[in-house]
Amino acid sequence: MNCTDFLAKLTDYFDGQIDPALLAEVKAHLGTCHHCEVVVDTTRKTIDVYRGAESYEFPEELSNRLRAAVMERCRASGKLRDIAVKSSCEPTGK
Ligand SMILES: [Zn+2]
Repeated sequence: MNCTDFLAKLTDYFDGQIDPALLAEVKAHLGTCHHCEVVVDTTRKTIDVYRGAESYEFPEELSNRLRAAVMERCRASGKLRDIAVKSSCEPTGK
């Protein structure tokens, strides 16, 4: 599994509608990929916020934003190690 595969499964992962075999692959990827780990962490916090506010629905716009952010970081990691993870993944204006 690579980052693209992982991100494709991200909403399933959070919905809990994921095949156990895939879940194992997702967890394996998270163990090796700091970028995706950050995405999961950020998404989890965001979901908590949404849950507290109103009926929960995974926002597609957020999903797209996270995907773009992580792909950018994965590309950058070829040149930069331990790139500082800034708050670009966090929701704004909410
Ligand atoms: Zn990854």
